[in-house]
Amino acid sequence: AGILNFCANNYLGLSSHPEVIRAGVETLEQFGAGLSSVRFICGTQSIHKDLEEKISCFHQREDAILYASCFDANAGIFEALLTPEDAVLSDELNHASIIDGIRLCKANKYRYKHMDMQDLEAKLQDAQKHRLRLVATDGAFSMDGDIAPLKEICRLAEKYEALVFIDECHATGFLGPNGRGTDELLGVMDKVTIINSTLGKALGGAAGGYTTGPKPLIDLLRQRSRPYLFSNSLPPAVVGCASKALDLLMESNAIAQSMAAKTQRFRSKMTAAGFTISGQDHPICPVMLGDARLAAVMADDMLSRGIYVIGFSYPVVPKGKARIRVQISAVHSDEDIDRCVEAFTEVGRKHGALP
Ligand code: PLP
Repeated sequence: AGILNFCANNYLGLSSHPEVIRAGVETLEQFGAGLSSVRFICGTQSIHKDLEEKISCFHQREDAILYASCFDANAGIFEALLTPEDAVLSDELNHASIIDGIRLCKANKYRYKHMDMQDLEAKLQDAQKHRLRLVATDGAFSMDGDIAPLKEICRLAEKYEALVFIDECHATGFLGPNGRGTDELLGVMDKVTIINSTLGKALGGAAGGYTTGPKPLIDLLRQRSRPYLFSNSLPPAVVGCASKALDLLMESNAIAQSMAAKTQRFRSKMTAAGFTISGQDHPICPVMLGDARLAAVMADDMLSRGIYVIGFSYPVVPKGKARIRVQISAVHSDEDIDRCVEAFTEVGRKHGALP
């Protein structure tokens, strides 16, 4: 029956959507293979401006700026925004690209314990001496599928006059009633100041990233952000695919709902089978196994049964917390989900992960 991919970030299945592919081909033909330039020289076409407008409209923000990747968006923002008089407060489990972006800036750095609001408050109190405070967190954390407590983070940010930045790579397009992301899910769209996200996961899966937020911030990034200033602009075909993906999501949230139903099916069937699945209602479904070798051997055995999954162990996740990270997509059928659960159950029994 072929191999089923359960380890891609293709949450909505848009990378193989016929309309997304057609839009990419048409844009390639009409606008060429590439611009051979950064944006501010001769690398801006109408499609780049249109996509930036669409992104800000999707997130209900004032403006947006495109990058070659979200890694670049994260590399560019902190240095451009923060000075040595400022402070950045970062969740200890933030994505590597946020950590690297923060390393590049000269602000005072605070690292709070993962999703620990008491620790964040203590660090915010300490950071009151600085000119400006920025709290930075992943909206959804990719290793555990857990969701940042944005309501509490925004409440603390208000109390201590801080700005909130979220990385929405594992949320854009599918979390929240209209797929706007974690801020919509948790009812704080008007409280989160800055969003960075990717076009390389749910939004077509090719490449590209962006920052969206207040217009003065985006203007500042166009003047100062180094990955924007010194790296080639996004290829037209990539822009065309992402733009069509956003059109589809703004027309209807049926695809996101279908993915949510399949996530629910997988999580409940796996839990009933006796597995522990980390995270909350997120399509990242880490099957917790503990032992690194067990995770690797089980993942190999799953592949021999036609299910493509990968074991994660130290140093990617803490010691003793090895897991197989399953990712659900809207393109999985109910039968695909059931086939995956059956394979896990057989392999789990064989290797002693289940009684
Ligand atoms: N931020 C998070 C949370 C991610 O998971 C990733 C990708 O793995 C990135 C940023 C980087 O995104 P991109 O692939 O667009 O550079």
